[in-house]
Amino acid sequence: MSQQDPHCIFCKIVEGQIPSRKAFEDEHLLAFHDINPWAPVHVLIIPKRHIAMLSEVGPEHQELMGRMLVLAPKLMRELGVSNGFRTLINTGQDGLQEVYHLHMHVIGGPRPWLKG
Ligand code: 5GP
Ligand code: ZN
Repeated sequence: MSQQDPHCIFCKIVEGQIPSRKAFEDEHLLAFHDINPWAPVHVLIIPKRHIAMLSEVGPEHQELMGRMLVLAPKLMRELGVSNGFRTLINTGQDGLQEVYHLHMHVIGGPRPWLKG
């Protein structure tokens, strides 16, 4: 069974079919800079395996979700963010999710920001 969705832009980023500015990569996760940043630092942390959204996550994803959250402060430190940051996961229509591949925004750097 394929772990990717051929129509999903973030799966294409994982596969290297769409370029991205990568901030971190391992077996499970990819982090890359948002194309439309709200702030000096704005990265998206995604599982490499396609999961559409947070509401599809279950107990089998517990370790993966932990990995995503633990990566956030490490990345912010590496990217020089030292005064706090926001983490945000938009889910579904009312959550204003635009890309249906689970992703966590991690946003930081000196204010003012464009949004958020
Ligand atoms: P959502 O609203 O789904 O939480 O956020 C989707 C985010 O993905 C947006 O902040 C948008 O700028 C970003 N994004 C959409 N397409 C691309 C892309 O092709 N490359 C990168 N790096 N970011 C993207
Ligand atoms: Zn995907």
